[in-house]
Amino acid sequence: MKSYDGMISIVVPAYNEEENLPVLVHRLMAVMEPYPSYEILIVDDGSSDQTRYVLRQLSNAYPTVRFLSFSRNFGHQMALRAGYDNAKGDAVICLDADLQHPPELIPTLIQKWREGYEVVYTVRQPDPNLSWFKKSTSKQFYNLLRKVSDLKIEDGAADFRLLDRKVIDTLKQFKENDLFLRGAISWVGFRQCRILYQPAARYAGRSKYSFRKMMQLAAMGITSFSTKPLYLSVLLGFSMFLFATLFGLETLYEYFFTDATVSGWTTLVVLSVLIGGVQFIMIGIIGVYLGKTFVEVKQRPAYIIGDTSDIDETSTTWQQ
Ligand code: UDP
Ligand code: MG
Repeated sequence: MKSYDGMISIVVPAYNEEENLPVLVHRLMAVMEPYPSYEILIVDDGSSDQTRYVLRQLSNAYPTVRFLSFSRNFGHQMALRAGYDNAKGDAVICLDADLQHPPELIPTLIQKWREGYEVVYTVRQPDPNLSWFKKSTSKQFYNLLRKVSDLKIEDGAADFRLLDRKVIDTLKQFKENDLFLRGAISWVGFRQCRILYQPAARYAGRSKYSFRKMMQLAAMGITSFSTKPLYLSVLLGFSMFLFATLFGLETLYEYFFTDATVSGWTTLVVLSVLIGGVQFIMIGIIGVYLGKTFVEVKQRPAYIIGDTSDIDETSTTWQQ
């Protein structure tokens, strides 16, 4: 059991959410009332509306509200990261600013944390408010991600979760710029627990996740957890090589046993197909090494210790 006095941080990424923030803050404060120590940290992701002004007012009015403002729009994932980097709590809960993630679920997350879980993540139940397009693109994305990476992320996983201080400190050690948090959190392990929730409709404003941003997130998720796309070239190279060999044999057969060939044609065909195949294989090999370099330069911790009898803190060993 964790101590009941542990501080809780609530991290909220917000991009042009001026209408949602006051409502959100009041609902959060109502939910957090029984907890002795908490903070609400809102990360303004370079909003172009009055978000920053609203945040200044809220933080002046309530000592539990803090905010950070980005110099420009860096994206949802970066806003979350900044929140994680600056949160002071022993447990950090993040949720969206638009009230789609019900604040009333927070006590359940905290309860699970007190039971000893270090990651309490949520999975949204099928949502009648969600458009068909968003539902099917999200499903396809998770299918593809599970196929090309070794991650076990469930459909409907979102960035509404509680992380223990240990997990936050581990995430801070990820040096890669493009960090797909849902993947990273599944990857680090620890004692994880899953909670189902029913998402609400967006309180005000429109979704800030444009199609372009969704695609960017998908591409980042796949390329930061898998190098499989690079191996396509090797596969293609070998199939072309095989095809070249068969085709070459066939032209040789025609050359020797029929008189249907034009002089010089056989050599040209055989050479060009062979060279093409070999080139693809070579590019593929370069791709494989490039993939390995890519994995290494990220300098992720080689392993992560969740608990030990020796020291209290989570320690991490780095790859050299
Ligand atoms: N968000 C952000 N930066 C962005 C886009 C979105 O910080 O560039 C925030 C947004 O304010 C919200 C959360 O990320 O708190 C989720 O965005 P949204 O609700 O628009 O996405 P959806 O629920 O439609 O997937
Ligand atoms: Mg939303």
